[in-house]
Amino acid sequence: MRKRNLVVAIDGPAGAGKSTVAQLAAKKLEYTYIDTGAMYRAVAWRSLRAGAPLTDEKILRALEDIDVLLSYEDGKTRVFVNGEDVTKEIRTPEVSAVVSRVAAMGEVRAKLVELQRKMAVHGAVLMDGRDIATNVLPNADVKIFLTASIEERAARRWKELKEKGYDTSFEEVKSDIAKRDKADSEREISPLVQAEDAELLDTTGMTIEEVVAAILKRCE
Ligand code: C5P
Repeated sequence: MRKRNLVVAIDGPAGAGKSTVAQLAAKKLEYTYIDTGAMYRAVAWRSLRAGAPLTDEKILRALEDIDVLLSYEDGKTRVFVNGEDVTKEIRTPEVSAVVSRVAAMGEVRAKLVELQRKMAVHGAVLMDGRDIATNVLPNADVKIFLTASIEERAARRWKELKEKGYDTSFEEVKSDIAKRDKADSEREISPLVQAEDAELLDTTGMTIEEVVAAILKRCE
């Protein structure tokens, strides 16, 4: 089903299902999927390795010689930091709790945005994040702002965490998501915001298949 080598940007708040649907849509389009949140998580994960408390210095040190690699094969993304597979490690509640702070730093964003732009130069990519349509790829061919009610986003994330064996309450997950959204929307550099020319896709009450179909339709 490979169409032209489009550049597709998908932004939205935490738990909107971006990575799930973007991964599936990319597979159908035979495009590469780039999960930019995973890149910020990779920096956060490496910063945490220096031990508590997390400081700007530790984040900058972690950034210095970091090599973040995303591999996308058979519709699945794997994340490597300096050769180490950290696909699972970057999804823990500990990393989620600090990632927005790490992502608010200008030095972190400058390094990762440069990498992200390089990854998209040949097109045929679907990139998701918070600032893709507004900042990373402002000339993207398709721009979608994916969201859902906070209740639904929290319910989806809670289910995901429970399946992975984490013992957290729904209220806790909802509060973490709300906190992350606030930090991401209010930061100074490239905050989470719907681009003027992005199409809003509210997925509340939609199935994964329906959302994927809606994205593919916009790519036609
Ligand atoms: O997409 P995900 O929820 O994994 O992203 C983790 C965090 O990374 C976000 O909460 C945000 O702080 C940061 N992020 C960002 N810009 C992006 C993608 C993610 O600031 N393009």
